[in-house]
Parts: sequence; C-alpha cells; structure tokens
Amino acid sequence: MLGRQDVNPGDIQARLVELQSLMLDAQRALADAEERNRLLSVKLDEANRIATLRDDMEFIHDGGYYVRKSEEKRVPYCPLCWRVDVKTVPLELQTVEGSYWCFLHKNEYKTKEGERLGVCRSEKSGADLLRSEIPLGENANARFRQPGRL
Ligand SMILES: [Zn+2]
Repeated sequence: MLGRQDVNPGDIQARLVELQSLMLDAQRALADAEERNRLLSVKLDEANRIATLRDDMEFIHDGGYYVRKSEEKRVPYCPLCWRVDVKTVPLELQTVEGSYWCFLHKNEYKTKEGERLGVCRSEKSGADLLRSEIPLGENANARFRQPGRL
C-alpha cells in the first residue's frame, strides 16, 4: 500500500477513469453475453421443437405424405413442405377420398384407394384427362361422366 505522503490526486483521478472504463467494458461484455445467451436459448427452443416434431412425424408410403403420430385424427401433411421448409402444411382433401393436394407446391398425393376411386369416377371417359395435373371440380367430373348424353 502507498503511504499518505505518496498519494498524488492526479494519479488517483487517472486510476478512477481507467477503472470506470474497465467497468464499462465489463458491462458491455456482459450485455453481449446476455444477448448471445438469449439468441442461443431461442435457437435451442426451436431445435427442441423441431426434434419433437420430427419424432412425431411419420411417413405414410401409401400416399407419400406425412402424418403426426400424436394426432388422433390423421391429417396428411405435405412431404415437401416438411422436408424442405420444416413446416407442417396440411394437405387439402380433393373430391375423391384418399386424394390430397398441397396448395403451396401444387402437387397431388394419392393413396392406392384414392387412385382406385379416381379411376372409378373417370373410367367411362376421359380417364387420362382426369389423371392429368389439372385439378378438376365436381362439374368437370360430371361432364366427363356423361359423354353419351351430350
Ligand atoms: Zn407442400
């Protein structure tokens, strides 16, 4: 320790300024660490959410879509939305049971049953037209079903 006679007020002032500056640096470092911690926490929550979802998603080969094991009513989810964007986007049921549509990817997914029903509906005429990419509504189907009357 310094004796009283050795204390220089100018030195004390300089030392205080230095300490203040060090404290500010420490505060900044702490704030940065807190922000990083917050961001990592958000990332971890998201990673956990996705991991839980991943465990829950089950690929259904007959139809080529996903369902969630935890859901009592099995909703079909778009496989592209899930695999590419990690989003659960429910597929829309088409006019035929077992035939689904992703409105984002404009893609159709059919179970074997959906395939069979689709063919049944259109077997009288225009089967190939009905199986094409264009989604057809009830009216269009009705038109194809009764070609003889036109
Ligand atoms: Zn999709």
